[in-house]
Amino acid sequence: MPEEYKIITELFGVEGLGNIDVYRAHGGYTAIEKAFGMSQDEVIDEVREAALAGRGGAWFPAGVKWGFMPKEPREPSYLCVNADESEPGTFKDRHLMEQNPHQMLEGTIIASYAMRVSVAYVYIRGEMFEARTIVERAIAEARAAGYIGRDILGSGYDLEVYVHPGAGAYICGEEMGLIQSLNGNRAEPRSKPPFPAQQGVFEQPTTVNNVQTLSYVPHIVNRGADWFKGIGSERFPGTFIFCVSGHVNRPGMFELETGSVTMRQIVEDFAGGVRDGRELKAVIPGGASTPPMTPDQIDIVMDPSNFLAPGGGDFQGMFGTGGIIVMDETTCMVDALLNFMVFFAHESCGQCTPCREGCPWARDIVSRIEEGQGQPGDLDTLLDVAHNVGPFLCPPSRLTTICGFGGAFANPIHGFVHTFRSEFEAHIEEGRCPIHQDKSIRVPG
Ligand code: SF4
Repeated sequence: MPEEYKIITELFGVEGLGNIDVYRAHGGYTAIEKAFGMSQDEVIDEVREAALAGRGGAWFPAGVKWGFMPKEPREPSYLCVNADESEPGTFKDRHLMEQNPHQMLEGTIIASYAMRVSVAYVYIRGEMFEARTIVERAIAEARAAGYIGRDILGSGYDLEVYVHPGAGAYICGEEMGLIQSLNGNRAEPRSKPPFPAQQGVFEQPTTVNNVQTLSYVPHIVNRGADWFKGIGSERFPGTFIFCVSGHVNRPGMFELETGSVTMRQIVEDFAGGVRDGRELKAVIPGGASTPPMTPDQIDIVMDPSNFLAPGGGDFQGMFGTGGIIVMDETTCMVDALLNFMVFFAHESCGQCTPCREGCPWARDIVSRIEEGQGQPGDLDTLLDVAHNVGPFLCPPSRLTTICGFGGAFANPIHGFVHTFRSEFEAHIEEGRCPIHQDKSIRVPG
């Protein structure tokens, strides 16, 4: 059995790690000193050379993204730490902040220095009250220690870091939605271009990076790009944190090398297999917006490049955020899809007509089927609605909505109905659920 490869979770469990003295006793904040001995472009080059890809789900190269920021900054420019983790089934960023806040903060300060930004915001989901408290305390400690503020470590570089709590909207995790919210507007994403590096927070150059992405930065600066590139797969080196929940014996988080394990190994070896000796029915690979995989598909090696999107592989699925949800044979797939539809219908920001109208339509159709009131033609209508909101696995030019929420909503519909069509049809034809339902995974509508 492969073992975990712990980089950013290595210190989890160390008592008092949220305290700056404990963090420093374990090597913390040495990367800042090294980074400040390098030029800003050298730091960007190191991260680009390491091929660190964004871990928020898009896998865009962080060093390339940092390079989009202007070399002569229009004062002020901003870094936003996307700590608005909201994808159902995903909980790694919350744990990274709660268990090792200074690691993320050190990465944030280094990234800010490299991009010449003067203010960093940690945009944190409002419900994560404990994480927010911990991060705020870490910022105060870092400021008192001279890592934040004016003339950091005598370098002449000034940086302020603030925590900004969101109000708990899924769309604030979308890059432009987050920026709009920070600007004091409703979190309604806007079309790109202009991209955030040109026009972001308060119309100034801005980069948005995920918590997990920034947590790697101190390690890359300390140990070098070659060390990082030697871990995991060639195209997406490093590790990834998989969060496993649902019907398994040992739910939890597992930091694993990219491209080193199969989905089956994650479910069976790391998460202890399906609970109570039951049969596996489906696995959601990366949060609610990714289509389900069936037991015969889970021998795939877990690397983004093996999935059609975004890596360009052969498998017609999506890698997503690492939020793995396991469903056993007692799960009603209509009920499971309804769970997701209730969520997406609630979270649409309402700007785009297909999304604003389509999400509740789909929710209502699935609800009708689940209640035994389905009608012939409902499945075709459901797929038609999904296709109009988010054409499946299509190039961006064919998208019908401003942001990727449309696709996030439509992907599970396409996946569930395509893979479990007979179960949906049985609900319609028999007027009842043919499965013994497991209500423990259902949320009220
Ligand atoms: Fe809002 Fe949906 Fe349009 Fe995104 S796709 S901007 S969430 S209405």
